Amino acid sequence: GSLKVFELFKQLLAQKPELKLSVELDKEDHHNKTSAHISGCHGFCQMGPLVRIEPRGTLYCKVKPEDVSEIFEEHIINGRVVTRLLYQDDNTHSPIETQDEIPFYKNQLRVALANCGRINPDDIEDYIAHNGYQSLARALYEMTPDEVVKEVLDSGLRGRGGGGFPTGRKWLFAREAGGEKKYIICNGDEGDPGAFMDRSVMEGDPHRVIEGMMLAGYAVGADEGYIYVRAEYPLAVKRLRRAVETAGKYGMLGENILGRGFSFKVNIKEGAGAFVCGEETALIASIEGERGMPRPRPPFPAVSGLWGCPTIINNVETLANLPSIILNGAGWFSSLGTPTSTGTKTFALAGQVAHTGLVEVPMGLTLRKVVFDIGGGLRDGKVFKAVQIGGPSGGCLTKDHLDLPLDYDSLQKAGAMVGSGGLVVMGEDTCMVEVAKFFMGFVQNESCGKCVPCREGTRRMLDLLTRITSGAGTEEDLLLLEELALIVKDGSLCGLGKTAPNPVLTTLKYFRSEYEAHVRDKK
Ligand code: SF4
Repeated sequence: GSLKVFELFKQLLAQKPELKLSVELDKEDHHNKTSAHISGCHGFCQMGPLVRIEPRGTLYCKVKPEDVSEIFEEHIINGRVVTRLLYQDDNTHSPIETQDEIPFYKNQLRVALANCGRINPDDIEDYIAHNGYQSLARALYEMTPDEVVKEVLDSGLRGRGGGGFPTGRKWLFAREAGGEKKYIICNGDEGDPGAFMDRSVMEGDPHRVIEGMMLAGYAVGADEGYIYVRAEYPLAVKRLRRAVETAGKYGMLGENILGRGFSFKVNIKEGAGAFVCGEETALIASIEGERGMPRPRPPFPAVSGLWGCPTIINNVETLANLPSIILNGAGWFSSLGTPTSTGTKTFALAGQVAHTGLVEVPMGLTLRKVVFDIGGGLRDGKVFKAVQIGGPSGGCLTKDHLDLPLDYDSLQKAGAMVGSGGLVVMGEDTCMVEVAKFFMGFVQNESCGKCVPCREGTRRMLDLLTRITSGAGTEEDLLLLEELALIVKDGSLCGLGKTAPNPVLTTLKYFRSEYEAHVRDKK
């Protein structure tokens, strides 16, 4: 739908070349011309296809091809807003014209997603016009690699892919490791059900990811990088390839970048969709051409990674934060969020929430604000029951957690985790045992089978959950399920197995009565 709408705008503009000079626009439009371009995802999935018109940022929602000529005639030619296509406030039902005033956006703070939905991802000049590659220039001209590492350390940035390890500390290990050759890997193997944060960044702002990798490369002394992206994201692959190619043509990739003696090359590797390849050592094995299976750590990849060389693996969102940190400074970044979880976090809002989509908020915002102020509460009059946060590695939280700040430490204390940022909202009629079974089925399917606790343990846990939900479970099954969950958690080799029991453990903790009801009522 979006592409058809865009094509129609292009056709209409082509028929009116005089618009380039005759349409009166605000002074902010320096080019004084009318043009249309595609953009990456705006995040407001529920309301798409979206059309944003500058310079005021008017946002038209659920635009159909047949609406295009009206927007064109009314808004672009006559300067009148098409009220019927504006977003309507949930409570007052009055139309809201500009994107920034819509509650879904008003409560967000966009850093990693700053350009998504604003710039043309296929146009490097658009990226440059929005401060693109300026942080790289700043680093190369004004900072030593040690100063870049220090800036990132001081910013407090932690890995956005799940673990939350401090990015600057990881970099220090690689910086201090010896060897001529080092690598930077961008982990774009996003596989959590319901998560699409990394995909949106790669599709909507690919140069930002590349710039982040180059900053990492300069900081640790690496001259080559890989973007490991799922083949199931063909648009992301296409845009990344184009971005790498044009960055090379503009002298932003290659030898002696900006004449500062720094060289960097980026390769793109398409993953085949195995969830376990999001795990660092499995991802490295996959790039090396081996079967994607985790390896025991230590050694950690920062010391011995790709082909035995020191390798930094950062998630897409982590890398997308770096240009803003280097441009605006560590102090600016650490002033956002909480003292131990600085900056912002993107979440993919899904499930029974009224406004599904991609959001970015300061760390520490409460779950209530995300679900109700941004997400608009539950749809169809449903009552909030729970959220599953952090994908299959995360946990389920209840209405008692609505005022819990969304940050690494608070979520961990509650038995969940930020994870990559999947946030599935569930209403009162959701069976939490079925939810636990769904996630267990997912991890069981994705277990690589290398170690027994995960390979056998998740299979037995899934069997037990199937028995319980079919009404054949017993009290002993509940005890066994709990016992197995702890064994899998403690005994598994990699993060997939170690976190696989989280949905079961949190639902047993917060919704035990539902398990007991299945056993008691035999249904
Ligand atoms: Fe493979 Fe699971 Fe063991 Fe990880 S924990 S190595 S996914 S079997």
